[in-house]
Amino acid sequence: MYLPWIKLLEKKKMLSLKSFRTLLCRVQATACRTLTTSGSQPRNAKVGFIGLGNMGGPMAENLLSQGHQVSVYDVSAEAVSRLGGLGAAPCRTPAAVAAASDQVVTMLPNSQHVQAVFAGPDGLLSAVKPGTLMVDSSTIDPAVSQEMALAAKDKSAVYMDAPVSGGVPAARGGTLTFMVGGPEEHFAAAKALLEAMGKNIVHCGDVGMGQSVKICNNMMLAISMIGAAETMNLGARLGVDPKLLAGILSTSTGRCWAIDTYNPVPGVFDNVPSSNNYQGGFGTALMCKDLGLAQSAAAATDSATPLGGAALQIYRLLVNHGLGQLDFSAVYKYISERQ
Ligand code: NAD
Repeated sequence: MYLPWIKLLEKKKMLSLKSFRTLLCRVQATACRTLTTSGSQPRNAKVGFIGLGNMGGPMAENLLSQGHQVSVYDVSAEAVSRLGGLGAAPCRTPAAVAAASDQVVTMLPNSQHVQAVFAGPDGLLSAVKPGTLMVDSSTIDPAVSQEMALAAKDKSAVYMDAPVSGGVPAARGGTLTFMVGGPEEHFAAAKALLEAMGKNIVHCGDVGMGQSVKICNNMMLAISMIGAAETMNLGARLGVDPKLLAGILSTSTGRCWAIDTYNPVPGVFDNVPSSNNYQGGFGTALMCKDLGLAQSAAAATDSATPLGGAALQIYRLLVNHGLGQLDFSAVYKYISERQ
């Protein structure tokens, strides 16, 4: 908009050639920035959010703090009223959320919950408006994501899977990584929506591919956490100080996130679940679910995953011993405790 004025001033010799060029550069840079941000989400969008638990609660809060009109639903009345107190509009069913929203995010425990919320009685799909973008961030079976995407298409709506990594701290801080699966042409809209809750929004391919990437990550994470727990326990029984061992491993070839950031031994780091009686964080029962998804995917693709299979069995033992609600680093507690 400033270009004609600048050109006029230069023509009338009211601007030197040097100032003219400097101004022109600034205007072009501003135009460039405007173009790059023009795809981002306008404030005040009508966004629905379903599943207000450890992850979904803070994610919905971040949407509210970005100035969006957020309609919420959860089977827990307490969770709904907490978000209502922060400015969200409480809804009585997923259908009511769909009716009030142009975009919807879901963050639910597993595949069955996602099927119920989308396709059950009073589900999202019973009231969704054509053109609505629905992004499911739960970690579920990729086949269920594909099933939901087809059902959404029948209603002229769009479904994308976008599971996350980063855990509760990243959900609170709005720094989640989203692994997105779905049609390329809808990725920009999904990215603009998810940027209110995350930092790293990556398109992984068609619907279900976000889940595939997520399942691979969590299988790796479980295997490395069990390795970290076994190693730290062996070191302790050999009389090595856990902090010293963690420090050496963190700068050696055995280094991994489970050792250098999220160590499973109480007292090695302050702000991790192991130093808080394994409270908060990522539940052992949820890890067990993700390892089950990885094993189903391995069976479907004839992939040999001997360590992934063993990890599932170990985490199942933890759940059967009543440790399902503890953070998954509690595998150290299970391995190290003598009867
Ligand atoms: P959570 O159990 O804390 O929250 C789930 C919420 O969904 C609860 O508030 C529950 O009441 C609600 N819910 C259950 N059934 C419902 C239904 N039919 N309708 C509406 N609401 C319903 O779980 P979470 O830790 O927030 O995890 C959610 C998803 O995110 C899971 O798929 C998990 O694997 C994934 N995830 C979790 C973490 C983590 O660190 N917690 C990290 C990455 C991914």
